[in-house]
Amino acid sequence: MEKRIYGKEFGFSTRAVHAGNEVDGETGAIRRPITMANSYALPYDPSEMNWSGAGKNLYTRNGGSNQKYLEEKLASLSGGEDCVVLGSGVAALSGLFFALLKTGDHVVFSSVTYIAVYRLLNELFNHKFNIETTIVDTGDPEAVRASMRPNTRLVHIETPGNPTLAVSDIRGIAGIAHAGGALLSVDNTFASPYNQRPLELGADFSVESLTKYINGHGDAMGGAVIGKKAHLDLIRAQSQVNLGGIISPFNAWLITRGSVTLPLRMRQHNENALTVARYLERLPRVRFTAYPGLESHRGHAVAASQMSPGFGGVLAFGLDADHDTHNRFVSHLRLITSAVSLGHDESLIVFLGEKDERQYLYPEEFHGGFFRFSVGIEDGEDIIADIDQALKKTGLR
Ligand SMILES: *Cc1c(COP(=O)(O)O)cnc(C)c1O
Repeated sequence: MEKRIYGKEFGFSTRAVHAGNEVDGETGAIRRPITMANSYALPYDPSEMNWSGAGKNLYTRNGGSNQKYLEEKLASLSGGEDCVVLGSGVAALSGLFFALLKTGDHVVFSSVTYIAVYRLLNELFNHKFNIETTIVDTGDPEAVRASMRPNTRLVHIETPGNPTLAVSDIRGIAGIAHAGGALLSVDNTFASPYNQRPLELGADFSVESLTKYINGHGDAMGGAVIGKKAHLDLIRAQSQVNLGGIISPFNAWLITRGSVTLPLRMRQHNENALTVARYLERLPRVRFTAYPGLESHRGHAVAASQMSPGFGGVLAFGLDADHDTHNRFVSHLRLITSAVSLGHDESLIVFLGEKDERQYLYPEEFHGGFFRFSVGIEDGEDIIADIDQALKKTGLR
């Protein structure tokens, strides 16, 4: 059978089912098999081989079948030319930074980012490699414009941002970055490509933690960078082969399988999170609720202009209560699990206490400690009933 390419002539759900999958040439199986081999057969004369070459079936750190199938699928879903898949979201982020940045460069990044981005850029790259960094509230594009320097190589944003759900204007910031000769990378993990596709909005890179919504079942870690082939060739050659942060073929296969239902799961995440956010917002003892789908959210208008059809499954909220009462509330939950991570099928909550060293970067209401709540795909009324009974037991309802 001729190889099929799944471009934009097909809808998102069709691509989620078919992209990256083909009838297996050897067995005729209609699902591609898992290939757990570390090594692939060499040609008759291997002396001309490039042992650092990427993307070929040579050695699994250089490239392997299951990794390649997942890359084809994610490029298709994200509207990108090419994709590199690595062993975790952080491997994708560090792979991007290592490939792109050199001593003397300047990076602008969001005041709200995944903790490892803050550590990588502000500590490792800055202290060890003399890469200049500026942290700005990228919710304000003018603050990004003001922080650009002649040596700015990269602007990195996360929208919605982890953990405050801050929203940044991808189109506006892409224009500012490009006018300054810099590239824009967007961590799209909270939205997933179902709700937001940064490359279509002008970004150069879309980064995904596959660990979250794209796999969606909480049982495999992975990360991806999607963008132009010329940039990704650099990440493949430098970060995949030589830093070695590859994904296992088995995890690539699990994530390929999990992502088939991404559109179905995201519809339920979007709906449940909006319902829960509206419910929380009305409660007198809930100090604040942050969800980009709420009209009250600072970034709602921008989110509505770049996210569709929904706003994802993560929200943040705080109780009108002291530190220990937040923990007592969690101890009374029966359905919702207290654990880190997000984008799993099940609802997960984490209390981020007042000691987070980055609180000074967050808006005032986050300073008293708050919850990051990843609303799962259970029945919405069961999630609300669980919160309700826990609030009652804590004396907040
Ligand atoms: C979880 C997460 C990451 C890191 O992904 P891992 O797969 O855990 O390495 C990066 N960015 C965001 C926004 C995340 O939520």
